[in-house]
Amino acid sequence: MATMVARDGVSERAKKLHFSSIVVDTHDDTTQRFLDDKFELGVRHSDGSIDIPRMKAGGLDAIFFSIWMSGKTAGPEAVKRAEAQIRAVQDQVRRNSKDLVLATTVNDVRAAKKEGKIAVLMGVEGGHMINSDLDVLRSFANSGVRYMTLTHSVNVEWADSSTDKPAHNGLTDFGKSVVREMNGLGVVVDISHVSDKTFYDTLEISKAPLFASHSSCRAICDAPRNMTDQMMKDLAAKGGVIQINYHVGFLSQEFRDAEKRDPKINDDIALQIRQRCGGDGNEACMLLEGDKLTREFVDQGKLPRVDYRKIIEHIDHAVKVAGIDHVGLGSDFDGANMPYGMEDATMLPKITDALLTKGYSEGDVRKILGENTLRVMADVERVSRELSSHK
Ligand SMILES: [Zn+2]
Repeated sequence: MATMVARDGVSERAKKLHFSSIVVDTHDDTTQRFLDDKFELGVRHSDGSIDIPRMKAGGLDAIFFSIWMSGKTAGPEAVKRAEAQIRAVQDQVRRNSKDLVLATTVNDVRAAKKEGKIAVLMGVEGGHMINSDLDVLRSFANSGVRYMTLTHSVNVEWADSSTDKPAHNGLTDFGKSVVREMNGLGVVVDISHVSDKTFYDTLEISKAPLFASHSSCRAICDAPRNMTDQMMKDLAAKGGVIQINYHVGFLSQEFRDAEKRDPKINDDIALQIRQRCGGDGNEACMLLEGDKLTREFVDQGKLPRVDYRKIIEHIDHAVKVAGIDHVGLGSDFDGANMPYGMEDATMLPKITDALLTKGYSEGDVRKILGENTLRVMADVERVSRELSSHK
């Protein structure tokens, strides 16, 4: 029997499966572009990875836009800037209401799919944005935020980050009260970026399953941002999900080693980013140019070329270690450096095709594409209801 393979290398069977599944991406940094009022999400762009035409072409049904700023911004200023980003996401949904709908529950996501719309969700990436104030956390939840990553790249006052020196031995008592409050509010506790000890403290205290919105496997690429096999097993034992990150520096050991061997490469990239984006700290420009420059350095042979099949290797490893019910997708589009063949959302059907080719069943592929993430969200919603009925 001849298999039908389209020019893009994606079989008809994969297309049918992909476009009938609910595809969820738990981490995208496109929000930084929304801060420029002139940015049109409804128009196809030649840069970046995400806009409505390309989400449609790639069958992306639900997207978590990240509310993010560096951990260097703290205090009331961080709260203010997070609120501005939340408004910017809500504004994009209003301006594009023909195609987008704001979603806060699993039912909202499923209803959007039925209507042929893309569900827009929000996650706060870094506990520094609550300014150590549970009222701020509550107000984020009220505005529709449905996950919070406890830390970004530096420690917060109540939790250690995976890329900073340990200061709190994991989660402090206040950090534990943040996790409890998130359980009550129905906000998913995201353990991407946190230190291993913070992860275990959180796993112990949380009444709801956790997810890692954008992390990959440390057994394949030894980055502190990735999860060890044991962490993935323990996350899964409590019903959680690891959403695999597509960033080349988290996918490929070869890429990581090359960066380490020659630190001048990253200095060069940083310098050229400043030249292209100016010194005013335009995050959207810096993120997009970082991705472009990395690609240029690869083309010049200064960094190794990482192919999108590396994503499949991480998914497959995580499935083998944590189980088929505990793996999802968290691209880091518009916030990281993408591998060849996964430059933007239009390429997503290739993941479905590669998993089918590897022998995954259609049901298992649907789980990875989105159903596992939706299950965690449903569990988090249930726990929130239970906690509020016992008050
Ligand atoms: Zn991140």
